[in-house]
Amino acid sequence: MENEIRSQSLYGLTPEGITEELGLDKDYHGRQIWRWLVKGVHEFDKMTDLPSALRKTFVEKGFRAISSEVIEVNSDEESGAVKLCIRLSDGQVVECVMLLSASGHRTACLSSQVGCAMGCRFCRTGTMGLTRNLKSYEIIEQLIHIQELEGPVSSIVFMGMGEPLANLDEVLKAVEYFHDPQGIGMSHRRMTVSTCGVVPGIRALEKAGVPIKLAVSLVTADEAKRRKLMGIARTFSLGMLKSALLDYQRRYGRRITFECCLMSGVNTSISDARKLAEYCLGLDVIVNLIPFNEAAELDFKTPSLEELEDFTNELGLFNVQYTRRFSRGRGVNGACGQLAVKYAYDDEEDF
Ligand code: SF4
Repeated sequence: MENEIRSQSLYGLTPEGITEELGLDKDYHGRQIWRWLVKGVHEFDKMTDLPSALRKTFVEKGFRAISSEVIEVNSDEESGAVKLCIRLSDGQVVECVMLLSASGHRTACLSSQVGCAMGCRFCRTGTMGLTRNLKSYEIIEQLIHIQELEGPVSSIVFMGMGEPLANLDEVLKAVEYFHDPQGIGMSHRRMTVSTCGVVPGIRALEKAGVPIKLAVSLVTADEAKRRKLMGIARTFSLGMLKSALLDYQRRYGRRITFECCLMSGVNTSISDARKLAEYCLGLDVIVNLIPFNEAAELDFKTPSLEELEDFTNELGLFNVQYTRRFSRGRGVNGACGQLAVKYAYDDEEDF
């Protein structure tokens, strides 16, 4: 059961909602506060167009506009990635990452849950289990914290801790907030939801009419291997997944990304590459190949350069479009599947 959370945040509220929440006399004060919050200003004493008496009252009463706080920041000099550990109002900790591309493009990678129930075997977050879903304001605040420290980002991926499609309502509220042209104004095509393959979630996202991009952590197109590696594959077959993706693509026409975390000797054979190529047929996809980041508590190994070469050569023979990226964020444990176990295990002596 989800823990009870006391909302201490004005993020995610409409201007009218803020007016009501704070019991303001004048509607336009709610709109003024809303505008400051969108800009990342959440201290009432810095909202300089509010009457000073009002600001003083809020400060004296100890009102807070934001519910979470940054408790740790780690930067990776090599990749430019910055990871933030954020403490929520109930003491839980989530992480989010600002990723920097070679061209200087900044992407915020946001968490949607504390932990994750999906239990993918190659994922550190999966070892935590699920504690709870995040509220939309807790998702929004991650972006606010990132932008406050690092400046504006140009895209957002829901690829941090958790399975976003298992918390779709709150994720969609956050998407709506980020998209609002009066506010942050980020276009839907700059937002991506990454799923491990929750087929009903993909169907629900399609029905929601919000044309954001979709990334799927496919890992392998070998059914038996996928079932061993990913619990979700035991419920939803590759056929069911592909059918949902075809429908999504028919409706929105957006290219889909397949994320493949490559583990040495597990999903890197020539036969694995061929099965992947076959699975891509009929879909407009780009395959993102991510060499596994070794972690103490997981048994898998990073593939050798030779394995990667052979794998990508085979994909090339079938004209599969792929990117083979160095896992940006590796130095801060912010790469795929590496978010936030430290605080979850802090009390365990032998971790
Ligand atoms: S890979 Fe994603 S869905 Fe799978 S356990 Fe990790 S966070 Fe959850």
